[in-house]
Amino acid sequence: MNQATDLPALKLSKSTFLYGCQCHRRLWLYKNCYNERELPDKETLAKFSAGTDIGMQARLLFPGGVDASAQGPLFLHQSIKNTIQYIRQWHSIIYEAAFQYEGVYCALDILVKKKGKWYAFEVKSSLQVREYHISDAALQYFVISRSIPLEDFSIIHLSPEENEQGKFTATSVLPRILPLQAFIGKKIAEFREVLDSNSPPIVAKGDHCFKPFACDFQKICEQK
Ligand code: SF4
Repeated sequence: MNQATDLPALKLSKSTFLYGCQCHRRLWLYKNCYNERELPDKETLAKFSAGTDIGMQARLLFPGGVDASAQGPLFLHQSIKNTIQYIRQWHSIIYEAAFQYEGVYCALDILVKKKGKWYAFEVKSSLQVREYHISDAALQYFVISRSIPLEDFSIIHLSPEENEQGKFTATSVLPRILPLQAFIGKKIAEFREVLDSNSPPIVAKGDHCFKPFACDFQKICEQK
């Protein structure tokens, strides 16, 4: 493992990478006007909560692991250090394993070591792998593989056949995320430039404001 223990400031994450892919302005506003965003409604909060429940159920597929979770956004460095420590202590199942590479942070739901090789599993509460799951996974692979070699990367989602919570299917997405690695590197460089700017990029509102999810800065953009 070549992860340094003196960690840099964390500038991008899975969420903010997704925001940048949706709209440079959303990324900039999130980082610079966080308190002006619209808060999620009850329905959205319920979906987040359901997703967390599914994630906890999926851990039962790999019982007995150690949890490297951060206790909040101010503790992400601690989560990375926990992960480094657990790997060095030869733990073979780590929940919420966290990594960073040059200030890009990501956590992974379940990291498993089998026969000396590392396997990554990300849990989604959908019935299938969606396109934005692939860009999430491509970023996670980009960051994690700078610290440890990954033999495979799978999305665990609800099984379409059973359609019940707790009935999961694991789908390997490695063949889809490997060809995206150069693209991810280019996007990270692009998003760093956006974040280095002193003013928000000018972007007209459009269909992109709702894909893959509704942006939480709609009101600010309507006022401009
Ligand atoms: S409302 Fe639309 S244009 Fe404005 S920041 Fe969000 S995605 Fe970008």
